[in-house]
Amino acid sequence: MIGVDKNLCIGCGKCLQVCPNQAISIFDAKAEINQRLCSECYRCLEVCPREAIGNKISINVVEIRKSLQNAKDRLGSLKAKVSLAEKIEK
Ligand code: SF4
Ligand code: SF4
Repeated sequence: MIGVDKNLCIGCGKCLQVCPNQAISIFDAKAEINQRLCSECYRCLEVCPREAIGNKISINVVEIRKSLQNAKDRLGSLKAKVSLAEKIEK
């Protein structure tokens, strides 16, 4: 499934011009893909100057990685607090 990263999209419309299925529209200066019309030909990926279009799964993987890193950071901070609390108790 193809998706648009709206943080990267600048609404230039280049993807819209090459789509053979008219699957792309611009709303609020951001591209949107109608999944029902998209045939995953990847033409839009090739012309996007911002690399804003990609496989939705890979976009989600990036988000999952960020969340995992945040969770690791929080766990590290929590472990440090527990360790400090144990030292104080002794
Ligand atoms: S080509 Fe890329 S930057 Fe331009 S409208 Fe499409 S997704 Fe957005
Ligand atoms: S992958 Fe092809 S059909 Fe799908 S939105 Fe992009 S240009 Fe259109």
